[in-house]
Amino acid sequence: MWEPENENEDDKMTEEQLRELARALRVELAGVIDDAEGRRLLASELDEALELPAGQAKPTLVATLRARRETREWIAIRTGIGTADVVRALAGPLGTLTAPLGVHVVCPHGDYDRYLESSNQDPGRCPNDGAKLVRADD
Ligand SMILES: [Zn+2]
Repeated sequence: MWEPENENEDDKMTEEQLRELARALRVELAGVIDDAEGRRLLASELDEALELPAGQAKPTLVATLRARRETREWIAIRTGIGTADVVRALAGPLGTLTAPLGVHVVCPHGDYDRYLESSNQDPGRCPNDGAKLVRADD
């Protein structure tokens, strides 16, 4: 049976794929981020994300990997999926590229998610069906 929701999921990376990317990025960091301070910061963010238990690292890995233009470009080159598709592959259609890991909100229909910068920010509505976004359980 054809289920459109699952089609969407297939485009996204699994936690193991994200961990592989994060580990590879950690090794190649010097060639990716020019700024020493930014490099140090990203290295510690990657280390923290990779130390999370299996099954719990995905939101942090996604947020860390997609937060910077340099890492999105690096991922595009490494995976060959094209810069425009990187963000989609990392977490599906996203509201914002630069938001740090904050409050995760999702469409109740499962077709959209985004991160809020603070818990009192209005979660807004799904751009696909207009449903009010609700807090995810992760
Ligand atoms: Zn929706």
